[in-house]
Amino acid sequence: MWSALCWTSLSSGATAALTVHSDFEGGSGETVSIDSERQAIHLRPALREGRGWPCWWYVRIEGAVVGAAFELTVSGNPGPFRPGGAALAANWAQPVRAAISKDDVVWTQSPNGVADTQNRTMTYRFEAPGERFWLAWGPPFTPRHGAKLIEDLVAQLPGSEAFVLATSRDGRPVPGIRMGRADAPAAIWVQARQHAWEAGSSWTGRGFAEWVAGDDPEARRLRESTTIYFVPIMDVDNVARGAGGKESVPRDHNRDWSGEPVYPEVAAAQGRIAELDQAGRLRMFIDLHNPGPGDKRTFFFGPFGYEEMAPPVRAGYDRFIQFAAKRIQGPPAVESAYRFATYVRTDEERGRMSSGWVRKHTDPTRTISVTLEAAWNTPDNTADGYRQTGRQLAAAVADYLSAPTAKAGE
Ligand SMILES: [Zn+2]
Repeated sequence: MWSALCWTSLSSGATAALTVHSDFEGGSGETVSIDSERQAIHLRPALREGRGWPCWWYVRIEGAVVGAAFELTVSGNPGPFRPGGAALAANWAQPVRAAISKDDVVWTQSPNGVADTQNRTMTYRFEAPGERFWLAWGPPFTPRHGAKLIEDLVAQLPGSEAFVLATSRDGRPVPGIRMGRADAPAAIWVQARQHAWEAGSSWTGRGFAEWVAGDDPEARRLRESTTIYFVPIMDVDNVARGAGGKESVPRDHNRDWSGEPVYPEVAAAQGRIAELDQAGRLRMFIDLHNPGPGDKRTFFFGPFGYEEMAPPVRAGYDRFIQFAAKRIQGPPAVESAYRFATYVRTDEERGRMSSGWVRKHTDPTRTISVTLEAAWNTPDNTADGYRQTGRQLAAAVADYLSAPTAKAGE
């Protein structure tokens, strides 16, 4: 009794009540417990049934004591994320380091978290950077970041053009940008964030677009020879809601590339890609993602049936990965050989993935279609780290497009 009274008087006197908020664009977090006295909170990602994996979290803390020790514990969400389904493994929600910001603009990383394998929690300890500050799974990239990026690029690069790819199922615009000469002989299509939790893919895309728009002579040459289309966030609805997106209902966004897509932005991308192919211009399609928590290196998924490909077709993929391995030094550096998404079992499902759909619907002697999986669970995967990977990717694309290709009969 004595100690309880003592704690009560302390908490009403010395310490303000700590509160946790997620009612903003991209916000997600259910509070398991709050201990204002110890400045300790325990969170888990919000469960949004039918909206995909509950792995992303992003909250604002109010009422912290600046400079005092702060403790964040993160659990997985135990609920099934789709009807009749299972809970998601906790480690998808538990990066080695948490992202912290005192202004919701510049993000740094916490020291390494400490895992409690018995309770399946991860605890991060750091000093509270402000009375109010933000915590997230990784540096957030939401529709407002996408809109600002496109606005900045258009202002920077005369002749570039913002476009709205589609209006999403929930009525949001899905913006993109065209850079480079509109009537250039070649064209490429780069998109990020079919999986809403994979915020790092949009940061990688931002780095890519910034390099393309920049002053590097190679970037200038690329813009002369090639029209570059870039969409920073495909699944805007789940990103805006702070949902994970992956395995959402009725369909995972990256299993929607069928003859009858559910998502208007997928249908619109298919239409534009098919048009570029029919005009004989499409050279590359790149889909940007983030892989699993154990993948400490960035890598590409290449084409299924790689071994059986006609030699000139396979040579295109080989040339590209050689340039990529040279340019994408990270850190983390890209793996120098393709991986193959063999966890996708059937040809039917493989065909409904964006990269597979593009391969099936474009001229394989002209177009290569790859998926970049940018590692997220290393100390280098800050916003700036991802942007560097994106710039390196862009340089590799420029190398590939300007290299002499194998001629017919070779
Ligand atoms: Zn993904």
